[in-house]
Amino acid sequence: MKPIICKVCSRRLNHYADEFGVAYAHPLDVDTNHEPEPIEAPKGWRGKCDFCSHDEPVSVLPVDDFRLPKMSNHQSLGDWAACGMCAVLVETGRWDSLVKRVAAKAAQQRGVPVDLIVAFTLTTLFDAVRKHTRGRLRPLAEENER
Ligand SMILES: [Zn+2]
Ligand SMILES: [Zn+2]
Repeated sequence: MKPIICKVCSRRLNHYADEFGVAYAHPLDVDTNHEPEPIEAPKGWRGKCDFCSHDEPVSVLPVDDFRLPKMSNHQSLGDWAACGMCAVLVETGRWDSLVKRVAAKAAQQRGVPVDLIVAFTLTTLFDAVRKHTRGRLRPLAEENER
């Protein structure tokens, strides 16, 4: 399935379903002042790293769809794109460092100290990603040819 992105900020949106139906939300570590406007990503869209929501992705981690821990109406759909740095941390199994990196980036972007609740949420989220991974990271260039 094609990624759904926000028309306003071009970021990949999180998909979730609740009693009102299917909805989309910005990634939790991205600070926005607008409502998400979901559209299908145009062909060739690469977006940002799904882990840190910041850098350009270079590879893709195959991930099965899963419901987000502690937010069972939120769902992760599809594979996770990773930038160079996040990819290295995933590949070497340094998930703790990945949490620190992403939490620090989010804090830096907002100009606030690292939020422990964000760090904790990321820990549970990445834990779930790790459990639902189907294989190794693949280079994004290879992925686009399929
Ligand atoms: Zn947006
Ligand atoms: Zn990244």
